[in-house]
Amino acid sequence: MIKTDILIIGAGPTGLFTVFEAGLLKLKCHLIDALPQPGGQCAEIYPKKPIYDIPAFPEVLAGDLVDNLMEQIKPFEPGFTLGERADTIEKLDDGTFVVTTNKGTKHHAPVVAIAGGLGSFEPRKPLIENLGHYEDKGVRYMIKDPEFYRDKKVVIAGGGDSALDWSIFLADVAEEVTLVHRRNEFRGALDSVDKVKELKDLGKINLITPAEIVQLEGKNFLEAVLIRKSNEAKEEFWLPVDEFIPLFGLSPKLGPIADWGLEIEKNAIKVDNSLDYQTNIPGIYAIGDVNTYPGKLKLILCGFHEATLMCQSAYQRIFPDKKYVMKYTTVGGVTGFDGSKKEAPKAVVKAIN
Ligand SMILES: Cc1cc2nc3c(=O)[nH]c(=O)nc-3n(C[C@H](O)[C@H](O)[C@H](O)COP(=O)(O)OP(=O)(O)OC[C@H]3O[C@@H](n4cnc5c(N)ncnc54)[C@H](O)[C@@H]3O)c2cc1C
Repeated sequence: MIKTDILIIGAGPTGLFTVFEAGLLKLKCHLIDALPQPGGQCAEIYPKKPIYDIPAFPEVLAGDLVDNLMEQIKPFEPGFTLGERADTIEKLDDGTFVVTTNKGTKHHAPVVAIAGGLGSFEPRKPLIENLGHYEDKGVRYMIKDPEFYRDKKVVIAGGGDSALDWSIFLADVAEEVTLVHRRNEFRGALDSVDKVKELKDLGKINLITPAEIVQLEGKNFLEAVLIRKSNEAKEEFWLPVDEFIPLFGLSPKLGPIADWGLEIEKNAIKVDNSLDYQTNIPGIYAIGDVNTYPGKLKLILCGFHEATLMCQSAYQRIFPDKKYVMKYTTVGGVTGFDGSKKEAPKAVVKAIN
């Protein structure tokens, strides 16, 4: 069981900044995210797009904003459970919570901060009858660790940037890479399309278009996929494979959090914005894009503000007898709720002085 002070569900910009604000109060954080990497929408949807409304950054790429947040929270050594979706929550008799993921990882904390944005990104799955039977047994919808595919026979399906980029990357890792796409044209960046064609000519990628995977086979684990060409003859053939990776994009869904007994309005969690962004369940907060209140704006800077106020309240909940006196981080340390001076982590002191 992973234990922490604040369990953050969602490692988007809001969840990441929560680690910093909690860290100043000496609270430890652990983050769960359904995606294999931190950064939420910024990393998954628009890493190369500039953002212009982050205070003091006239322009910053979304991907760089995530890198900077990761650098900023490094001194506080947060824990991460990535590639797993928070599925269930249980309130224990002492008021603390146990959150369990779809992979069975358990996390225990006195405070839960839901920073789930638009919800967990669920993979769009192709319509293949026995697909579910091979999930995690040769079928995967995300690439967490490319090394997993070393010396394996891999089939990737899809026509966007993910399918192209991973085909290019795995061409040097896997024993064999086959890219299957329904059309002859790809939706991804032109230079990635050119690179895939170049690797095809070098015999490093088998490119099969227009075609689709229509059936899977294997005793316990996936052993072969049936490929159907979209030509007039609808020619079909079996290809032996170890791993099939359909990369058809991700769609966000509030998902299991919607069943946690929280007040939901228009697919978002209602919070008390007059105070601390707490939900109707004491000890569970909702911050960033996932929450709603009168006047709510789904902006990164609003998520940062909500995270800051939420952490103050979380500290008060964890240490109800301590009194907090706010001090600026730039004075070289942090004042605890009891008024005692606490050293901010050296890297933070160095960074902010
Ligand atoms: C194209 C585009 C451009 C944008 N431009 C701007 C801009 O210029 N300025 C601006 O301020 N905002 C912009 N936004 C909005 C901004 O990206 C969001 O406000 C911001 O990402 C919200 O951050 P968040 O951390 O609250 O949520 P998210 O970034 O959505 O992160 C939430 C994370 O929670 C995870 N999650 C959810 N449920 C679960 C679960 N059950 N278990 C595990 N993980 C879960 C998700 O996988 C996700 O990674 C833009 C958005 C888009 C799509």
